[in-house]
Amino acid sequence: MRYVSTRTNTSPMDFGEAVLTGLAPDGGLLLPRSVPHIGSRLPDLQSLDYLEFCTQVLADFGFAGEDASLLIRRAYASFDCKDVVRFESLSHAYLMELFHGPTLAFKDIALQFLGHVFEWLLARTGGVLNILGATSGDTGSAAIHAVKSRARMRIFMLYPKGRVSRLQERQMISVDAANVSCLSVDGSFDDCQALVKTLFADLTFKAAHQLGAVNSVNWARILAQTVYYGYAALNLGRSNSIVPVVPTGNFGNIFSGYLAMRMGFPISRLVLATNENDILARFFETGVYKRGTVQYTESPSMDIQSASNLERFLYYLFAEDGERVTRFMKRFYECGEARLEPAERDHLNDAIRGVRINREEMHATIKAVHEQSGYVLDPHSAIGVAAARKIGRELGHATPVCLATAHPAKFPETLHKIIGEWPRHPRLDALVDGRAQVTEIPAELGALKAHIEGYPSLSDA
Ligand SMILES: *Cc1c(COP(=O)(O)O)cnc(C)c1O
Repeated sequence: MRYVSTRTNTSPMDFGEAVLTGLAPDGGLLLPRSVPHIGSRLPDLQSLDYLEFCTQVLADFGFAGEDASLLIRRAYASFDCKDVVRFESLSHAYLMELFHGPTLAFKDIALQFLGHVFEWLLARTGGVLNILGATSGDTGSAAIHAVKSRARMRIFMLYPKGRVSRLQERQMISVDAANVSCLSVDGSFDDCQALVKTLFADLTFKAAHQLGAVNSVNWARILAQTVYYGYAALNLGRSNSIVPVVPTGNFGNIFSGYLAMRMGFPISRLVLATNENDILARFFETGVYKRGTVQYTESPSMDIQSASNLERFLYYLFAEDGERVTRFMKRFYECGEARLEPAERDHLNDAIRGVRINREEMHATIKAVHEQSGYVLDPHSAIGVAAARKIGRELGHATPVCLATAHPAKFPETLHKIIGEWPRHPRLDALVDGRAQVTEIPAELGALKAHIEGYPSLSDA
């Protein structure tokens, strides 16, 4: 399997190169040259458990062999349920719980896999990697748990001092591993992000310290997520097809679902649910992709102004025309707005239906589901369930499957406000007395560089 860029100006590469490269040199994102089709193998796949199924799907994309199978098992050994995901049924839809990993968020499914794949690739190439990232909360802990104790890697995670929740901070700084460095920065999240961006742009420093990222455009993350869409379609869509309903931010998760649909799994359509940051819901309604200002909501992992992975969908919408993708993205970055041609809009809604959910609708859904069944949804998952309720009739005979992307105990204050209870999880309770591992630095490039330079080089470590 070879991988090409959405802007088609990068020479094709294999799976390992695609994962280590991240963003393509031409500025595009990587995709398989042709999407493998499941075709007549559907019945054979139906009898497999999650890990066996995952191994088969990944093999189709060029990640095969004994190492691959072992690595997949290792990546998911830290999960609370053997089958990685769990299904629940609500009165009008199924729920697929994706939050049984170490940090109780769906990002663990992709990041635990990525951490193990990176370690394996670096061992083969003799490379090392200093991962640098900034977080406003959730992504940081999932990335830290993916990298901790992996060989040839170290992670530096910046977060704004006093501006992430106490729980989120504990999830990061309680990790006891020599290759994890949490940096509490005296500044805002934007300051943290600016520091990271500036350091990545310093090519001399970047090369000298082998800096890398684990961001959501990485191909391994997308691929690992595609697996659970196929798995849900096989397990819940036996007589009908399914319609996954996806609480969306960066378009990474839902793109994985779109890929599963292109592979031929019984998925008839996808529902894209947003909060008040509705740039994507508006795009799928109007064909206009227009940047807005970020609103801070109770579903913070969906608070975005542009969705990095949309470019992958555009590549297929534009019939794999890399020049058209390049023009569209260039226009968006330069003007803050880009439009589809009328002919391109015609098929926009065939695959993906956008729905915007506001705070009141999200609260009402958490309340109603709790009253009806005792089930507690987190704010992100509730946005998906609210979208399924809102457009249920449009879905016909297809089975809605709402993706539950975080455990409710990660958002105790919000849920207490809505249902008057404090959702809990033993792993989060245990954090309170854990040890703290954190360095405070000012929001200055010199301080960040000095901190990184203070570590021995990874190859000697
Ligand atoms: C990251 C995240 C999302 C959004 O996923 P995207 O892949 O960015 O669209 C939704 N819910 C939770 C809990 C998340 O952490």
